[in-house]
Amino acid sequence: MNSEILVLAGENEPWVEFLAGKFSLSRVDAAALPQVLREKGWSVLLLSKREAERDGWALCRRIKTSVGRVLIGLVQDVSLEPPARTAWADDLLDPAAQEEFSLRVANLLRIVQANSCFFKEQKGVSVLGNGARKFCGENGFLPPFRVAGRMALDPEITEYFVRLLSGVLNTTASFIPVSATPPWLSEDPNLAPFDSVGLPYCRTVAESAVRIGGVSPCRYHRWLASLRAVIERRPVTLPCPGGLMLYAAPVCLEFFHAKYPLGALVVGTGEIPLGPELVKIGHRLRLSVPLLREKAGIARTLMQRSEQVAACQLLESAAEYLAREVSYRYNVAYHEFLQAGACQQLFEKAPAEDRYPTAALERAEKLAAMGKLAAGLIHEIRNPLTSVRGFIQLLAEKKPPGDREREYLDVVLSEIDRANEIIRNFLYLSRAGKFRPVATDLGRVVRDILMIVENQAALKGIRLVSECAPDVPAVQADPEQIKQVLLNLIQNAFQAMPCGGQLTVRLYPDAAGKNVVLEVEDTGVGIPPEHFSHLGEAFFTTKEDGTGLGLAISYRIIEDHQGKISVQSEEGKGTRFTITLPVNPGQ
Ligand code: ADP
Ligand code: MG
Repeated sequence: MNSEILVLAGENEPWVEFLAGKFSLSRVDAAALPQVLREKGWSVLLLSKREAERDGWALCRRIKTSVGRVLIGLVQDVSLEPPARTAWADDLLDPAAQEEFSLRVANLLRIVQANSCFFKEQKGVSVLGNGARKFCGENGFLPPFRVAGRMALDPEITEYFVRLLSGVLNTTASFIPVSATPPWLSEDPNLAPFDSVGLPYCRTVAESAVRIGGVSPCRYHRWLASLRAVIERRPVTLPCPGGLMLYAAPVCLEFFHAKYPLGALVVGTGEIPLGPELVKIGHRLRLSVPLLREKAGIARTLMQRSEQVAACQLLESAAEYLAREVSYRYNVAYHEFLQAGACQQLFEKAPAEDRYPTAALERAEKLAAMGKLAAGLIHEIRNPLTSVRGFIQLLAEKKPPGDREREYLDVVLSEIDRANEIIRNFLYLSRAGKFRPVATDLGRVVRDILMIVENQAALKGIRLVSECAPDVPAVQADPEQIKQVLLNLIQNAFQAMPCGGQLTVRLYPDAAGKNVVLEVEDTGVGIPPEHFSHLGEAFFTTKEDGTGLGLAISYRIIEDHQGKISVQSEEGKGTRFTITLPVNPGQ
């Protein structure tokens, strides 16, 4: 990265030395700063908290209101204070954690560069998918620190996990977003905590008339636990006023190896006290001891000791899931943003006849849609897996070590972990398009597929015609993937001919013998011209029960094979999809 970082000339703290060895730094006089920033346009400014706070944040305010496109990193010892999200800072940096410090500074530079590239020509954010827009403000892509609150996470999934935890474990569960002030005092609905109480004992304790900071002691302690987890960036425990143990796990957004805390999941675990201890709690919280004793009795049977281990594991896997989900979406959105900006710059440099800006942007959008599709799949699969893992863990903990059934359950657990691993890898690979090409006889692939669809065609009154040339060379391809493409196209063709018709599949080498052409033609309803640009877009469908994935996946596969796919269609007459595959891709 070649951008430089600005620091105030008077700043002579050790962190300035440290950064000077890693980045290119410029020292600027405070008085000249706004002018310099205006000239430089996009930049990163690092300020010590002491300098920033001078005269009621006057400098920051002036910069942010008059220059705008500057990212400000506040350097302070965050370990001593809760991470404040001040209106003027784009990140809070702790120089004591050196590695994290330089990772986060590098990230500020990354975002400033992406923004400068994007805004060079682009005025709005109209070229971005919905995912990216969520992480954008009017001054560009937001640094991860600014991605605050529970809206950064998918609220539905967060609620799902909180309810799951409280229901399965018969206890209290919350997601508490990061905020400097207690979140129940915040006016920002994004920063409101999400709580769920599954245990009557906890509900009774929460109803105590005693208040700390305006809320029940339960909520207050849950907030403290979440704060500690966020500051220490690891799961922590804290005794709660009802005698349980609060267990809190942070949810962090990871961006280029740096971790930005968004909040914490908290559950109550451990054993509910009995006897004198319970009496003390009753007096302290001004609650009726017999009532408390009754609820404690019920709760003790509900919350079995063996379940506590599982509670912690369930909590941690839920926190990890949320972290991965938001990190993935943020990173995809960042790349989408970068790509949209980069496309624009390539466009500027390209000779006039090479300019296909809309095609490039459309492609970026389609790729982004595929990213969303992958993220969507992960939701669908990982949610139930997390619950299944939690329940199996519960069952396993109930069996003594060495028990036969316990061994079986341990096998199930390790297999679930393996499945999780596969999903994780898929997520990252899904963007890279890896497949194993082998010499493939496409004539054979066509014959196989036609055999599969023969019956279906007969039932629908569709005539199958196959026109395969005898001299088609073998192509380097993944036969399973090509089968999938053919099936998708034939399925669409069948659906376009509800009253019967003819389906023709043609296979022939092109004139130069470098490519093989595969055509799927129907005599169906055809495609209206206004739908052409949407073909291949994930989730584009005109069918009531359609998924809009068939063509998206097919386009992706053909692209991975370095082939081309095109469509000709006339409404009321029919449609022809033409696939051209190179015999030897990469030559
Ligand atoms: P789905 O079949 O689930 O709708 P696809 O990605 O396979 O999703 O197709 C997307 C859309 O493209 C269809 O809903 C349809 O409108 C149009 N389409 C695709 N193939 C044909 C065809 N052979 N004839 C008419 N329309 C088609
Ligand atoms: Mg389809």
